[in-house]
Formats: sequence, structure tokens, C-alpha cells
Amino acid sequence: AAIEFVVVNWMLEAIGWGPQPRRPEAGAEISAGVLTHGGSLANLTGLLAARARIAPTAWVEGVPDDLVVMVSPVAHYSVARAVSILGIGSNAIRPLECDQWGRGVADRLDAQIDAVRASGKRVMAIIANACATATGLHDPLREIGEVCNANDIWFHVDACHGASALLHAQTRPELDGIELADAVIWDAHKMLQVSALCAAVLFRDHRSFDIAFAQQASYLAYG
Ligand SMILES: *Cc1c(COP(=O)(O)O)cnc(C)c1O
Repeated sequence: AAIEFVVVNWMLEAIGWGPQPRRPEAGAEISAGVLTHGGSLANLTGLLAARARIAPTAWVEGVPDDLVVMVSPVAHYSVARAVSILGIGSNAIRPLECDQWGRGVADRLDAQIDAVRASGKRVMAIIANACATATGLHDPLREIGEVCNANDIWFHVDACHGASALLHAQTRPELDGIELADAVIWDAHKMLQVSALCAAVLFRDHRSFDIAFAQQASYLAYG
């Protein structure tokens, strides 16, 4: 737990958030994160928080049928898998418009969001690749993130493969705008060369973390 705390804080600071204090003051705006067994579980956990934000009663009443998730067509398969596991169903996935290289384009995003809303649906999350696994190309995070923030839509950045580019001044610009995300996923077993599955789910706002872990475990001692 001590190592997890340090690693998560180091990652939060690399993004430009955090660090999470050991004893947060009530009401303080702080970031938070947790390590999971691989990026697939990390994507699931991040999207669980997105679901909890737009549909907080889903834990108790089940999942509403008006949710849509906007995902790049070249996203990692674990994203579609997570959407299905969450009970939203992969039919709820709308492809993000991309350029010829498979990078998301933000120009028509507002129109895409309007079309979803006009059909009576709600956008649960927009997911960007940083980078796409097959091509190594990063989506324009600042442009997509600004549209998400302006529309109050959860911005999920799947940076499993590419978040480590944050660590070098030369590659960091690829991730410009990552701090606009609600959740960032970062695999340590890829470019950080950790030898066992180890991924981080990092939340800009610790309350997002809290709603993804709503259950109480009284047998665990804290502090
Ligand atoms: C590798 C990867 C994942 C998750 O894979 P795991 O093997 O579960 O860590 C998710 N998204 C992207 C973009 C990836 O490259």
C-alpha cells in the first residue's frame, strides 16, 4: 500500500495533478488513483466511475438504457469489453470521427454530441487514445478535452501505452491537454518496463475515485 501511494502520486504529478495528501482536508480538490492488475481492469474502473457520475443509482437500480460512449474505432479492445461488462452494451458505442491515420478529430465532436442528445441519449464518456496501440499515434487531447469539459462530459484518456511519454520533455507535448481528463489510465508494464501486470487509474477529482468504490469494507483498517 505504501509503494502504491508513492507510485500513484508520482504519476499524478507527471500529469500535472496531485499529489494526494495522506490525510486530505474535507472539501479539498485533490486527485487520487489506484493500481489495478492491468490496463483492461483500469479501463473498466475508470469507466465505472464515469457511469457512477452520470447514473449514480446504477449500483442499486441497474443501468439506464440511454447511455452512449464515444470511442475511437482504433481503441484497445478492452474498452468495448468494459462497456459490455458495465451493462451498457457495445451497441451503445458510437465511433469517434478520425483522420486517415486513426487519430480522433475534434472539429465535428460538438455536432456528434448534439446528434446523440437529439436522439434522446446521454453521452456517458468520450474516450481518447494516448496512444493507439497499433499505430503509436496520440489523439489531440487538448482539443477533445476542451469539448468534453465544455459539454460536461466525462473525458477518459486511455494512455496505457503512451502515458510514459510524459516523462521526457521531448515527448511530453504528445500528451498536451491530458490534465483536462477526468480519468487517465497508465500501464507500468509497458513503457515503464515493470515485469508484472501493473496499471494505474488516475482521477483528476478524488470524488470520482470515491464513487467507483462505493462499498464499505469494515474489516479493513485505515490510517
Ligand atoms: C495495453 C493496452 C491496454 C490494456 O492492456 P492490458 O494488457 O490489460 O494492460 C489498454 N489500452 C491500450 C491503449 C493499451 O495499449
